Order: sequence, then structure tokens, then C-alpha cells
Amino acid sequence: MAQSRQESVEASSDALLEVDNLRTVFRTGKETIHAVDGVSFDIYPGETVGLVGESGSGKSVTARSILGLVDTPGRIEGGELRFKGEDLVQTGWQEHRGDIAIVFQDPLNSINPVYTVGNQIREALRIHQGLTGSDARSRAVELLESVGIPDAPRRVDEYPHQFSGGMQQRAIIAIALACDPDLLVCDEPTTALDVTIQAQILDLLDTLQAEEDLAILFITHDMGVIEETADRVNVIYAGEVVERAPTDELFSNPQHPYTEALVSAVPTPNPYTRREGIELKGTVPQPSNPPSGCRFHTRCHKVIQSSDYDLEQAQWRGLLNLRSEVESGALEVDKIRQSAAVGEDVEPDAVSDTAIRQQVRTEFDLPQELPDRDAEAVLADALDRLVSDDQAEAGELLASEFVTPCEETKPEFTDHGDGHRSSCLRHRAEYQEMEVVSDD
Ligand code: ADP
Ligand code: MG
Repeated sequence: MAQSRQESVEASSDALLEVDNLRTVFRTGKETIHAVDGVSFDIYPGETVGLVGESGSGKSVTARSILGLVDTPGRIEGGELRFKGEDLVQTGWQEHRGDIAIVFQDPLNSINPVYTVGNQIREALRIHQGLTGSDARSRAVELLESVGIPDAPRRVDEYPHQFSGGMQQRAIIAIALACDPDLLVCDEPTTALDVTIQAQILDLLDTLQAEEDLAILFITHDMGVIEETADRVNVIYAGEVVERAPTDELFSNPQHPYTEALVSAVPTPNPYTRREGIELKGTVPQPSNPPSGCRFHTRCHKVIQSSDYDLEQAQWRGLLNLRSEVESGALEVDKIRQSAAVGEDVEPDAVSDTAIRQQVRTEFDLPQELPDRDAEAVLADALDRLVSDDQAEAGELLASEFVTPCEETKPEFTDHGDGHRSSCLRHRAEYQEMEVVSDD
């Protein structure tokens, strides 16, 4: 693995790739999805930069944007992509076709089943390096050998279906290398493979990087894989990078609650140092309608409390989840009535209002009575409205009384030093003090 580099203004001109405030949008008749919404990061020659986040967070769209492969209804609508200082969008990628290659998750979608593996490598060699005839053939064999395909002089004439999944992925890497790229974008390159093969492909990428002085953008949803692979990591959530740090620092000292939750879910080999998994409870946002303020606030286990109340953190989370479900109509009183009926062992019609109120509290991790009197009064009032089928009014009440600063203010990035940055409102001085108080 290459050494990680610190970010600095002077160094920025040496960057191989600079992604600066990239915005890629899908506009269909029905909805607008800001799939990548102001993403910035950079990659230096010879290093592996990770991009990690859950499914739908915008990783593949970022990859396709970098390669100029976004199709309608998608479009890059803002920001800059600079490769060796040149603007890729402005120049239409022409100057740098072949300098950036991509390896996708699913080998069979990125390899052509009707041509031999050798033909596909030779085609790339012809386009990108002007190699033809026996030169191209011997280079194709060399490339297959370099990606660890045994018996390459024979296998070069085989078709993709004659290769196993792992061997197909190696062949695809060989095709990508035939362009002689400076940057290899790997979008979930091992996700479709079983664990042993996955480890072999990761080893291969590591070796190639050292031998070919390749830079790699490594994209995955798997924190364990990113920990092994990347020199520096960017964490993406709902189209935005929320944290960036050198890999060791990110895993030992995560600063954004989302990163903290991701890190907490990574299994550790030693059971005595096992991290306690953080369970995220709350509403997963719709890509077409991202939450205001911090996009993670609808699920965050550290979401900031309103200064009007003094509650345990899990209770505050529970109240916000209740508010969200009542407001959106996702909470159905009839269903609650049925759950309560099962609990009480009676017919749904016979369920008391008290039992319904209790069932709601149970489902949202709320106690019989909240310790904060003001919060309890609001909750009791909202529950009364719910049991008398005034869902809309209950929603309005909850929405006006239970408000988090995290939904009102978009957090800026805080610099934690040594290339570590994160965007969380809790890092603001005023909220830092509150945390110290509430930790006592
Ligand atoms: P992932 O992080 O899983 O790779 P993607 O980058 O594929 O996520 O997708 C990011 C968002 O962009 C998702 O909400 C997805 O639905 C949307 N998206 C991706 N491709 C298209 C498309 N062709 N049309 C409309 N929306 C798309
Ligand atoms: Mg993807």
C-alpha cells in the first residue's frame, strides 16, 4: 500500500484526480434524484483511496461520473473533475480515455460473452496503445500472466464463460490494464465473489498497484474490505461525503456518528476487543427527498436534543422516530391496536386506549413516563390525539415540539488535523459543551 499523504494546498497540484464539489443528478418526469450532491476528494499517484457507504449512497454514480459514463436521465450538473490538472468535463474525457479504467462488480456485465478474452484485451491494446498482430497477442498473454491466470498462452483464446468467477474478474482487470491506466476505479470488484477469491483479488490489486504504480479508487459497502485496502477513506452518505481520514485514523477515531456506526459493525478477530455494534433506528431517507440539515439526522444515534428538554439519548431518538412515522403516515393505529391485542390476548376491538398508548411507547423505546415533564406532556397529548384518530394533528404537534438542531442547520466540515475531516453539528463549540454536561 502506498503511503497516505496529508492534504495541503501546495500538494493539490500533484493530485492525479481532483473531484471538486461534484453534482450528478437524475431527472425523470416523476422525480429528481441528487445522487451525488457536492462530493469532493482527491487521489494522488500510487495510492488507494476508499469510497465507502451503504447501498444507494451514490458510490457507483460517483465512479461513472469520473469516467464520463453517466447516461440520461443522469447528468453532471455541477463541480469539476480534474485529471492531472485538466478539466475532464470540459474536454469531454477525450484527452484521458484509457488513463482511467474501471472494474465493475459483476464480471459478466462488463465482459463481452461472444469474444474470446484475448480478443477483448487485444482490442483495448489496439485502441489505447496502437498494438496489433503478434505484439498484441504476446502482450495479451503477458497481461493475463500478470493478473495470475495460469496457462495464459492457451487460455487467451478461451471465452469468458470458460473462466470461473474469480478468473473472469482477473481477466477484466487485465482488460483494464491493457489501457495502461494511471487510475483504476474499482466499483465493488469483489462483492460478487466468495471470500477466498475476494482475498486473492484484493492481493492482486495490491501487487499490481506496487508494480505498475497505479492509483486506485476502491469503492465498496464493506468496511472490512476498505480497512484492508485503502490508504485513505471517504465515507459517503446520501450523496454527500461526511467524513474523510487516513484509514487507521478513521477506524480508531471515527468522528461522524454514521462512520462510528459503520465501524462498530466490523467484526474484530479478538472477542475481547469486540466493538459494540451500534444499531441505527429511524427512517432511511428517500433519495428523491433527502432530509434537511444533516442528512443523517433521521437515523443518528447522537442526534442533538432540543435545549427545551433533558432526556436520555435513546428517548430523544425514539420521540423523533415517532414524530417521523406519525407525520409521514407510516404509523398506523390499527396495526398498533392489533399488536396490543396480541399482547393483551383480547380481540382488537376490546383493546383499551391505555394499551394502545403503551404499545406505541414500547415500539419507540419510550418509557411509561418520560423523566422530562415538558416532553412527557407533549407526548401524552400526541398519544391522546392518536388514539382518537387525529393522526394529522398528532403529527403537527410532535413536529412543532420535537425539533432537533440537526434538521435546521447543515453542518460544516470540522478539521480534526492530519487530513481528517467530518461534518457533524456536534463538533460546534456550543454543542460540545452540552455533550460534556450530559455525559456526567
Ligand atoms: P451505490 O452507492 O449503491 O453505488 P448508486 O450510485 O448506484 O448507489 O445510486 C445512487 C442514487 O442514484 C440512488 O438513489 C439511485 O436510485 C440513483 N440512480 C442511480 N442510477 C440511476 C438511474 N439510471 N436513474 C435514476 N436514478 C438512478
Ligand atoms: Mg454501486
